[in-house]
Amino acid sequence: MRMMMMRTRTKPPPPPFSFLPHHLNQARRASRAMAAELKTVDDHKPKKIPQARTAARVAMILRQRRATRAARFAEVQERACARVLGFGAGVNSVAQLLREPHVYDYVIFADVGAEEPPTYEYIEKHVRPFCKEKGIHFEMVRSHLGTLEDHCRERKILPIKARRWCTDKFKIRPVNHFIRETVGATAEHPVILDLCFTIDEARRAAADDSVQHAYQNYPLVYDQITRAGCVEVIQKHGWPLPVKSACDFCMFHNTKHFARLLAENPKRYAEIMDMEESSTDFPKRTLISSTSLRGLKAARASSLVVIDDDEESTGGCESAWCSDRGA
Ligand code: SF4
Repeated sequence: MRMMMMRTRTKPPPPPFSFLPHHLNQARRASRAMAAELKTVDDHKPKKIPQARTAARVAMILRQRRATRAARFAEVQERACARVLGFGAGVNSVAQLLREPHVYDYVIFADVGAEEPPTYEYIEKHVRPFCKEKGIHFEMVRSHLGTLEDHCRERKILPIKARRWCTDKFKIRPVNHFIRETVGATAEHPVILDLCFTIDEARRAAADDSVQHAYQNYPLVYDQITRAGCVEVIQKHGWPLPVKSACDFCMFHNTKHFARLLAENPKRYAEIMDMEESSTDFPKRTLISSTSLRGLKAARASSLVVIDDDEESTGGCESAWCSDRGA
């Protein structure tokens, strides 16, 4: 009986490809094929496959992808109007800038207006002067909607993990606009846009194809650079490591981040708490999934929540586009 009930609850399979419009079929097939290829290089997935087979398969996939990519890249490079680095101000994109500064015409940072002060300081102190010295245009682009925080307050909404509308409206679209209007990219003469996912998160590169008139390129994935490799590059150049780049109210941050903010900057914590409570979806939707900011504050006051100092905060947009693991 129990078995039967379980069977009736089984999720129906997705519709066959043929029921979908042609372009969706194509996109879905491509995305699945790439995700299937790339998941073997993701640290979290390959456990079921025997070690030797995994290594051989990863090597084969990377060989194939590098060959395909090299041919496509050479073709696009012929007609590209510029090469652009999508700059997230985190470890990945700083490392990529230091690795290959000579290839870039533009470095574009989409500023949502809510980064923590050390990120802006790092840009002004290290990145901007470096770009100037190398003859690269550094651009900080912003949305015509203003800052993300003002937008959230006006509309009484919060960023949502599942939909990531904040990334779309406040990062991808301003970059898109700049690429089309200022750089002058067209379908015939696109830009090559480098995005800095590392090999540890190669699957994200497969799913991401969001900027118009841009050939999206993933140099750290193709060169098999890990996050630790990025750290090494930055240290070799004698630069300090950038702090994790993210909005201070990012819903990908964990409890530790907000507990730290409460201890170090209670005024800012109160502002974010106010934003959270003004949302029409509150208390159904909160920035931390387990509790509200007011709940966390009360729990901290009564020492009910102990924060593990080794627990890393996971929020971030460091690869230029937002990441659920602070890449
Ligand atoms: S850091 Fe978080 S809140 Fe800010 S734009 Fe990225 S995903 Fe959205």
